[in-house]
Amino acid sequence: MKRILFILLVFLPSLAFPQPAKEKGLNSINKQKAKAYIEFLASDVLEGREAGKLGGRIAGEYIISVLREIGIVPFDDDNNGCTQPFTAYAKERQTKSRYSIDPAIITEYKKDKAHRKLDLRNILGYIEGKNRNEIVIIGAHYDHLGVDESLADDKIYNGADDNASGVSAVLQIAKAFVESGQQPERTVIFAFWDGEELGCLGSEYFTSNFPDLQMVKGYLNFDMIGRNNDESKPEQVVYFYAKEKPVFKEWLTKDIRSYGLKLKPDYKTLDKSTGGSDNISFTRKGIPVIWYHTDGHPDYHQPSDHADEINWDKLVDITKAAYLNFWNMANLPNY
Ligand SMILES: [Zn+2]
Repeated sequence: MKRILFILLVFLPSLAFPQPAKEKGLNSINKQKAKAYIEFLASDVLEGREAGKLGGRIAGEYIISVLREIGIVPFDDDNNGCTQPFTAYAKERQTKSRYSIDPAIITEYKKDKAHRKLDLRNILGYIEGKNRNEIVIIGAHYDHLGVDESLADDKIYNGADDNASGVSAVLQIAKAFVESGQQPERTVIFAFWDGEELGCLGSEYFTSNFPDLQMVKGYLNFDMIGRNNDESKPEQVVYFYAKEKPVFKEWLTKDIRSYGLKLKPDYKTLDKSTGGSDNISFTRKGIPVIWYHTDGHPDYHQPSDHADEINWDKLVDITKAAYLNFWNMANLPNY
């Protein structure tokens, strides 16, 4: 009898009040997954995930395997699977020119007898929406600075915060959308950009070549979401949002209250002149952007950007907050 009572008390309420889809997804986001993703991507064996080098290729393969395991559909399964390959060129290295994907600039570079060439690739997967004519995108760059053999001590730029942290958030949010069990209203694309450290090459390539760009209603970016700018303010995060979309700020303010997230955002508006990460490739094309960033710290672009310095609790709450933003982007009829 006691046992029946137990079953009634524990299981009946969950039958009578099934967990809503959004919360089901939200509850799949956790610290264990964040650690698994970041500790692998930022390990020494990946040699700093430099764009076009072996470590960067392995990072890409790892992201593809996680997407497949989650059940995300590859972006271009007939040809390239989850990858969007592209090539960047630069002048011969003594000129210190930047790599470019601009066809006109590439034509110029190729006129020189010696020029540099890098084969890069974005990793992309998606969930088809009920309305296939509208698209929202969430992304983070997965490349970092590689290895510098001439450094005296630690030679590997592990890039745990920059930007394994952002990659972990996109992977967790992809999983959360699947776990929700609900098809989104709009098509959602999960993107992992290559070549950001060389000048946002991957996102620029995507926004310059994606044929359905006019269908994209919003982009959410992560770059460095795992550290404290000021150790006395461990809940601080910079939340950039498109100036023309004050509703993006309302979403976050409301969700922090509703879900008890331990975040104290600095709200900053962003426009076509706001650089710093892959957000710029989208704002340039007039697409409204949200960008999470936990600001600078002494290990920024240093070999000491290690996984054991990450503020895991904040990273997880930022991932949850962004999932809720992206849920709105994907599902609300108007904004
Ligand atoms: Zn970065």
